[in-house]
Amino acid sequence: MCYNSSMKEVYRSPVCFIEGYRAYAVHYDSGKKTTVLEHRELMEKFIGRKLLSNEHVHHKDENKLNNSIDNLEILTAADHAAHHNPTEPMMKLVCVYCNNKFERIPYRERSERKRGKFGPFCSRVCSGKYFSQDTTGDFSLGKARKVSGRKPKDGIHASKKLTYDILVSIRNRIANGESCRSIANELAVDRSTISYNLKKNNLK
Ligand SMILES: [Zn+2]
Ligand SMILES: [Zn+2]
Repeated sequence: MCYNSSMKEVYRSPVCFIEGYRAYAVHYDSGKKTTVLEHRELMEKFIGRKLLSNEHVHHKDENKLNNSIDNLEILTAADHAAHHNPTEPMMKLVCVYCNNKFERIPYRERSERKRGKFGPFCSRVCSGKYFSQDTTGDFSLGKARKVSGRKPKDGIHASKKLTYDILVSIRNRIANGESCRSIANELAVDRSTISYNLKKNNLK
């Protein structure tokens, strides 16, 4: 669904599944590519506007594949979290791409990590940028990986590319006066990814 009249949908993939939800890869004539979650798109069509990022669409019968409109309801992120786990507070996280702090429903975060997905990312914008940064200018590769829901095989993946040994050597190089920027360029990763992983491994 596209509410920006200057963008026309030119391609829609067959249905794929993201986190157990029905989804499509959509291309626009502007060259923009995105993934669309069917239950969110149906709700947007129903209410006639874009959903805000803190508006979740909940499946009343808990069946993520039942996208009948009367099975869907809009809940705020916090209400949605409370609905699925009344006792557990929102998880406080830091985006691995932009380092912004954000909150997330704990079960969602856990299910993504369990699936082996790299993250967390504060938004789809950040995950898109992260997974496409090794193919500068070719956004489609990152998106295609995201649609498939699999870890990138040979692209940027902090736990693979930035192993502990590499992180130690990066720490030493920085201590010897090299700039994080030049090391990041050399390894074709984002500077924030390096600093995040150094911090995570207590190397900072
Ligand atoms: Zn729900
Ligand atoms: Zn972010």
